[in-house]
Amino acid sequence: MKTRTIEVGGVKIGGGNPVTVQSMLTVPLTDTENVLRQISDLENAGCEIIRGAVPDQAAATALKEIIPKMKVPFVADIHFNYHLAIASAEAGAAKVRINPGNIGSDDNVRKVCECLRYHGIPARIGVNSGSVEKDILARYGGKVTAEGLAESAEKSVRAFEKYGLTDVAVSIKATDVPMTIEANRVFSARYDNPLHIGITEAGADEEGMIYSAVGIGSMLMEGIGDTIRVSLTGDPVNEVRVGREILRACGLRHEGVRVISCPTCARTDADTLSMVHIIKKRTKDITTPMTVAVMGCVVNGPGESKQADIGVACTGSRGVIFRKGEIFKTVSRDEIVPLLLKEIFEIEKEKNAL
Ligand code: SF4
Repeated sequence: MKTRTIEVGGVKIGGGNPVTVQSMLTVPLTDTENVLRQISDLENAGCEIIRGAVPDQAAATALKEIIPKMKVPFVADIHFNYHLAIASAEAGAAKVRINPGNIGSDDNVRKVCECLRYHGIPARIGVNSGSVEKDILARYGGKVTAEGLAESAEKSVRAFEKYGLTDVAVSIKATDVPMTIEANRVFSARYDNPLHIGITEAGADEEGMIYSAVGIGSMLMEGIGDTIRVSLTGDPVNEVRVGREILRACGLRHEGVRVISCPTCARTDADTLSMVHIIKKRTKDITTPMTVAVMGCVVNGPGESKQADIGVACTGSRGVIFRKGEIFKTVSRDEIVPLLLKEIFEIEKEKNAL
């Protein structure tokens, strides 16, 4: 869906710009040393926008020291207290996540809009299952519904537009994947605000990753979503890694080494899993797009390996290495990983020289 473009500290969101990956700090802003460490970890993992909770004035004040040290834009997450939105904007936040419905009077909404317009920064409205207004809930039988979530977002968009704030991204999230997808469909059919998408409180580990991948991936494949946040309990660096993989799986990003590997079966006793782990670990910093195939035997091995930039089809105690679609070398099992790694770094150089 074609959305309007907003700019978050130099990062364009919407309007067909590349879908960005964002995450949220778990360390309090007032713990400056540790928060800067977490910011650096997130930036190194490829996080393109970082959000942090600003629950009090001390956190807003800390932003003055933190933001100048950041490489990516900071988004202030505000609830209830509109003064903190203004303090964050004044401290250099590139966007403010705030809901007009939970900062009190209409006059407070006006003050926030005037401040954000003065500083030239956008807002994000974040609607979730727990934030739907009572009147909207009542209209849908007291239940949270996709239509109700979308209406809640529309109501907030209008509250900001009333005071001239139109640079507004919207997120509509629920823990229920089909409901989240449907709510975003409904909203994006009516409005062109850029959409920040995700599944709220998706959970931890595999559960959180799978719910996020299915929800975010489904929307992206329908052309819905301009920036993504994977919500996972735990280290937010994992949110970034998973977010980037989702974009790659959807064909929206191509950077880095994609390792294709077969599940193996009784036709092989090659330890392809160890090979994959070593290759992934040693190549994690490569940003050049490339495909590496690690295949257990010669049934599907040659076919996949030929299509990859480099690949191996294991056979007996040996491995047939393919490069540029041709057999390159046949080596003993011990030599497979060292040769693949050597050639991967060669391919990186060749591609970067183009
Ligand atoms: S490539 Fe060979 S080992 Fe791997 S799953 Fe297919 S048949 Fe089994």
